[in-house]
Parts: sequence; C-alpha cells; structure tokens
Amino acid sequence: ASLALPGIRELQPYQAGKPIEEVERELGISNIVKLASNENPLGVSHLVKEALTDKINSLARYPDANGFYLKQALAQKFAIDTNQITLGNGSNDVLELLARTYVTDHHEVIFSQHAFVVYPLVTKAIGATPVAVTAKEYGHDLDAMLAAITDKTRMIFVANPNNPTGTFLSTEALESFIANVPKNILVVLDEAYYEYVPSDVRAPSFSWVNTYPNLVVTRTFSKAYGLAGLRAGYAVSNAKVADLMNRIRQPFNMNELALTAAMAALQDEAFLQNSVQVNAEGMAQITAFCDARGLSYIPSHGNFITIRFGANSAEINQKLLEKGVIVRPVAGYELPEHLRVSIGLPEEMDAFYRAYDEIVAEAQ
Ligand code: PMP
Repeated sequence: ASLALPGIRELQPYQAGKPIEEVERELGISNIVKLASNENPLGVSHLVKEALTDKINSLARYPDANGFYLKQALAQKFAIDTNQITLGNGSNDVLELLARTYVTDHHEVIFSQHAFVVYPLVTKAIGATPVAVTAKEYGHDLDAMLAAITDKTRMIFVANPNNPTGTFLSTEALESFIANVPKNILVVLDEAYYEYVPSDVRAPSFSWVNTYPNLVVTRTFSKAYGLAGLRAGYAVSNAKVADLMNRIRQPFNMNELALTAAMAALQDEAFLQNSVQVNAEGMAQITAFCDARGLSYIPSHGNFITIRFGANSAEINQKLLEKGVIVRPVAGYELPEHLRVSIGLPEEMDAFYRAYDEIVAEAQ
C-alpha cells in the first residue's frame, strides 16, 4: 500500500505547455511557434539582460534571503510597506505557501470551475478538500462561491483575470465579495495577469489589504514583465499574514538572478508598456480572425484567448502541432471543446492563422 497522503495519491502531475524542444524531437520539425504558456513574446528587457550579466560573478554567494532591495523597490512602486510582501519562486510558490500556512486536512478550499489548476493541486497536496463552484458564463460565480462557504472553509482562491478563461470581475463585484467573506477565511486574489488590464478598470487591490485583513493579493513577473523562466512572484497582504508566510518560506526561495532580474524589470516601464500594447493589438487581431471564421471565444482580459473549436478540438490541436504551432488544450479545465492560444508576436499569430486556415481547407 502506498505511504503517500490520500490527497497526494489522487493528484495528477501539472501539465505544462509542451516545450518547443519536445515538439521538435517528437515530430521532427523546426520553426516551431509556441503559444501555449502565456509567456511574454517580446522576450527579456534589455535592462534585465544587463543586470543579469553583471550578476554572474556573484553567484558563488547565497542570495539575500529576505530580498531586501526587491521588497524596497516593490514597496516604493506600489506605496505599500516592505513587511506586507512575501517573495516566491514564481507566484505558484506563494500560492502553496499560503495553503501550507493556513490550511489543514480538516479544511475546505473554494475556487471556481475552470480555475487555475494549481489551486486544487496545493489544496489536495495538504489533504484538504477542494470545493469547485460551477462557473457562470465561464467566469467566477461570486454569489455561488459565497453560498459554498461552510464552517470548514479556510481559503478561497479568486483569479482576476482568470486563467484559462480570461474572464474579469469588476472592482465593485470583487470588493463586495471580499467584504462578504467572513474574516476567518482567507481570500487569495491571484492577479497574475493584472498588468494587461487597462488601468482605469483595475481594482485597487493592494490598498484593499489594509481594509480587509484576510485578503492576500498575488502577482508575478512571469507574464507582462517577461521573466517566466526565472521564477519570480510575490504576495501583498496584511503584515501579520506576511510574517507567518515568511516563517515557513524557504530562506532562498527566490534566487539571486530572479531577485536581480525582477528589480531591473520594475525599472523598465517602456518594456512593460510595449508588452501590454503588443498584447492588445494581438488580441484585437485574433478576435477579428475568430469573428471572420465564426469561431466563438471567451472574451479575455489576459495575454491569451480561449477559443471554442468544437468536438474535434483535440484533433485540431494535434494538427496545429504537426504544423509547428503549439497551443494549449484545456480539457483538464472542463473545457473539452476549447483550446487556449497565447498572444504572440504578429508573425507568430500569422503562423497560427495560416495553420488553422490550412486545417480547415484540408478538411474540406
Ligand atoms: N496564477 C495564474 C492564474 C496563472 O495563470 C499562473 C501562470 N500560469 C500563475 C498563477 C503562476 O505563475 P508563476 O508561478 O509563473 O508566477
């Protein structure tokens, strides 16, 4: 008999977007376009490259265990206190830290249907009970999530924008939800795609943590800041929550290159703006492409769009792969008829459009 915890025995390993090298190896093709992991197609900011180059010679030393300078930079940029910040090896690390800090195997954790797969993963890993609430028009049904609260509920995950649907909650709906959650339940507001949301509709979420002591907001450097490969994310919360999370955090969970790169990335406002701009243009173009071909999609506020290809979406995914375009199946998110396409550079989007049109033409 397995000695593993029951929750762990049932877990499915995280399915990442297929790496380019794997598709090259398996299908023997080159010139592959990857639109599968919501990465920044512009690559790495030149400020980041310079900072990393300078840092190479210091790698024999341990990183700063407390990330003093990065926390200072974040605190200054967002008008928060350094003691409200918890750094992580990607925001996934912070999500797991939160679960380990607050949830036990007696507890329930609520999230939406079609929500980010790491929520059930970190929940089951500690033997707690995941409660997936049926979505409304692919997005969070906040009223139903409130109604799902029991005396065992300890944590609620809300992603805004949500992955893989790209759905977005208004500031009013979100704040009213947070205000209605009992204070002994932690609300984790995952804002991995925050930077892609136009500034006039973004929630003032970092300031909310002062009003709502049970709110934790997570952000990442993996998307608009272009540092997915380095793993850099963080949480902003009430100082007491941050203090507890920092007690169990591994001392060097954010490595020296990630700390350095994140600081440099915060300096490069032009790169960030350009990333957001290229994404907005790509999004406008791909929705027009879908409209022209009668493909329906879930309107998205992230750097990806989830398109409905119908019952043969798995086949279309395979044919796209064979034509060198990697997109992301979302059947594991209870969206078996959809594929998620990350917004790439114009030429990468063209490769996707061409491949899809060829597939349709070949089927006729
Ligand atoms: N939250 C959401 C909603 C995401 O889509 C992702 C990235 N797939 C993450 C968190 C984690 O990102 P990272 O660990 O790279 O910061």
